[in-house]
Amino acid sequence: MVVDEPNPNPKPVLMEIDKSLSINVEAMDSWSRYLRMNNSKFVYNFVGQFKSTLRCTFCGNCSETFNPFWELSLPIPQRSGQLSLSRCLDSFTSVEILDDEEKPTCLMCKEKRNCLKSLFIHKFPKILVIHLKRFSQTVEFSEKLNTIVDFPLIGLDMSPYAAEDIVPCPYNLYAISNHSVPPTSDTTQPTADIYIRKFGTSTMIPWFLQFRRIVSSVGMLIFFFTNNGLTPKTNNMMVTLSRATAPAP
Ligand SMILES: [Zn+2]
Repeated sequence: MVVDEPNPNPKPVLMEIDKSLSINVEAMDSWSRYLRMNNSKFVYNFVGQFKSTLRCTFCGNCSETFNPFWELSLPIPQRSGQLSLSRCLDSFTSVEILDDEEKPTCLMCKEKRNCLKSLFIHKFPKILVIHLKRFSQTVEFSEKLNTIVDFPLIGLDMSPYAAEDIVPCPYNLYAISNHSVPPTSDTTQPTADIYIRKFGTSTMIPWFLQFRRIVSSVGMLIFFFTNNGLTPKTNNMMVTLSRATAPAP
């Protein structure tokens, strides 16, 4: 992934975020602290913000935290066949029970309690990067999932995953990076096939290989773009993407 340009004079804010602030002001405060240390064009285009909510199952107290993200790294909850991207997003954002060793300390109870953790997107990036976790790690080996993950090329609706009062613009497909082994290759070294969308058209440019389906069983990184006030610089983007390499299984 792209390495961010460091701020030459980073000065972190060490004071804790004031929890008496409204949720939106707290989110903006958290975001401004991140920009203070990491501001760049890449952050402006690629980084979003999670809102994570913890609810104590004993007293019902809720606490929120805000964290930046560069990508959504989604599990594939099906080992074969075909499923929709929304199933992966649903799995990623499903309510998680924190118990046993994972119990957090409830701010109200002042004790470790079972909590329910929920994840929402509070700030949507202009370019949304989705990573499909195709490698399932077991105790003995790493297995690649060849499940076909289907997604819309135009009008991806992320509103089911948005925080309260946040209305995201629909996303359109911009590029996809496939992780595959060429069928004619003598080696098992995987390759990254990259497709770039021509803006203003509905066609995809095959970057390395032709006649490959966009939606397939090897899609690994999917780049969605929203026209929310951003003018794409396609040349710069293509250079960046063409340097991407597929991780070894
Ligand atoms: Zn509690």
